[in-house]
Amino acid sequence: MLKFIDVSTHKFGHRADGQPPRLLIIHSTDMPTDTSLEMLTRNPREVSVHYMICPKGMVYRMVGEDKRAWHAGKSYWRGASDINSASIGIELVWPADREASEDEIPGPFPQPQMDALLELAQGICTRWNIKPEDVLAHSDIAPGRKRDPGPRFDWKQLAAAGLAWLPARPYPMPPTGDITLLLARYGYDVKDEEAALRAFQMHFRPAMVNGIADSETRSLIQALLLKTGR
Ligand SMILES: [Zn+2]
Repeated sequence: MLKFIDVSTHKFGHRADGQPPRLLIIHSTDMPTDTSLEMLTRNPREVSVHYMICPKGMVYRMVGEDKRAWHAGKSYWRGASDINSASIGIELVWPADREASEDEIPGPFPQPQMDALLELAQGICTRWNIKPEDVLAHSDIAPGRKRDPGPRFDWKQLAAAGLAWLPARPYPMPPTGDITLLLARYGYDVKDEEAALRAFQMHFRPAMVNGIADSETRSLIQALLLKTGR
């Protein structure tokens, strides 16, 4: 059973054209709970989010799901650049009790936090009919600029709950040719090709994030294109 704490903030707006959310974006904060709360609710900076989950699994509810929170920043997915209007955002407080250092890779995330995320995401995806393939990392929609929630975020737990889709072996034959076109077709901003590849690998092949279009990476992107018919 989820434990909610309601925290009010004025930091939100209306979704462009009143569109319903169709993406769910997962973040991590790089800050402890108190600092994150201050930043997301009272700090004058234009950053906010619908939900934040602390390491023990408490869920802070800050912006209504029908409203536009300011969590995506400059971002892009499948032709859209106003991702805040198109999405609901969830921040995972990480690390638990300190600021993250500049080059620190987020994760692993505590199980009580993951359990709360699974339950919260299940409700959101059901309410708004958000598809598993449309549950994304902040890094997916802002390659190179954002790294959260990082390669140690456990997408397998989301996939097991039907909240994400990961390719299963055997993978299809690796396609030849320019992989940038395939990443773009799937939805990534490919202005920086290596950054897009790293973002893709962080989500779909976290064991080796190297920005190189090797055959396994090619097979994985092919599997996703086949699965989603893109
Ligand atoms: Zn983020």
